[in-house]
Amino acid sequence: MTEFSNRVERVSISGIREVFEAAGEDAINLGLGQPDFPTPEHARSAAVEAIQAGKTDAYTSNKGTESLREAISAKFERDRGLAVDTEDIIATAGGSEALHLVMEAHVDQGDEVIYPDPGFVAYEALTHVAGGEPNPVPLREDLTLDPATVEENITEDTAAFIVNSPGNPTGAVQSEEDMREFARIAEEHDVLCVSDEVYEHIVFDGEHHSPMEFTDSGNVVVVSACSKTYSMTGWRLGWVVGSNERIERMLRVHQYVQACASAPAQYAAEGAIDGPQDVVDEMVATFEERRDLVVDGLTDMGLDVPEPKGAFYVMPKVPDGWVDEVLDRGVVVVPGEAFGDHGEGYARISYATSTEELEEALDVMREATKAVR
Ligand code: PLP
Repeated sequence: MTEFSNRVERVSISGIREVFEAAGEDAINLGLGQPDFPTPEHARSAAVEAIQAGKTDAYTSNKGTESLREAISAKFERDRGLAVDTEDIIATAGGSEALHLVMEAHVDQGDEVIYPDPGFVAYEALTHVAGGEPNPVPLREDLTLDPATVEENITEDTAAFIVNSPGNPTGAVQSEEDMREFARIAEEHDVLCVSDEVYEHIVFDGEHHSPMEFTDSGNVVVVSACSKTYSMTGWRLGWVVGSNERIERMLRVHQYVQACASAPAQYAAEGAIDGPQDVVDEMVATFEERRDLVVDGLTDMGLDVPEPKGAFYVMPKVPDGWVDEVLDRGVVVVPGEAFGDHGEGYARISYATSTEELEEALDVMREATKAVR
């Protein structure tokens, strides 16, 4: 009989897929975690030009092309005022691989990882893959992560805590003060803070800050990607930034599991990051209009809706049976418990879909809400 590793036996297939599969083909899908816009023209052309010029036929350097890492470094300077050496960056196969590298390089058998609950599904899975022990912690009423909760949960076994702002599945944005606190905690407790910033540019109220801005302890690593900002989920291009020592450990894993990120995707990413950013502004403005539409609609139904300030998700509190009623009526939303035990009683609605579909879906939700009340 084939024996499987204990680590992989502790990982289950994401509950989100199950919801998609249960819904009919004609369903309106508000379960998706990807923007519904095309990849910007200048990113696509950069890839096509690189392919035609034969630049993408060979492996690149393990960390990624120098020019892409220069673009990422310039982006850090532009957005966060941080000087990042190109040697302290690895281009990865999306934010997902970046998170995997962080975990493999820092989490040992039995080490604890603290992360938000509800939170992105990969945090638990990747903690298990690394042999660690998940420690999902509850959120504030507004669905942000309280630094005090993180601090209370740190033990001598804690390897890392994960901060994700703007958040999936919540859309919550951590304040600058919170980010300063996370930086302080990482420094004082000498524990790694993993800042997952894949939604960094999709912010409507306030502004995004990274804990990396507030400490030079080397105890913060930043994970980000082109996926959400540039509507490039299919390209699979992200990055991880950290101290030279940490990057060197992550490279030991990356060079054997990936060799290098896909070369065409690296050129597309460079085009996206170096090119005009007004496409991002337009996308964010559209998301904001849709956020207002959905939040107003759900509030009018009498639901309690913590207001999302970023990403493209809203997470209302919903009555018992609501998700099933909505699904039965042909609209896919994801039950909150797919994101952790504290997600129970909530649903995640993605508004990365057209206004027409959102309006139709809100009508369905209105009916479903009446049916379960
Ligand atoms: N982090 C968060 C919070 C996400 O929501 C996602 C994707 O949904 C990722 C990381 C992974 O992004 P990528 O598609 O770049 O692997």
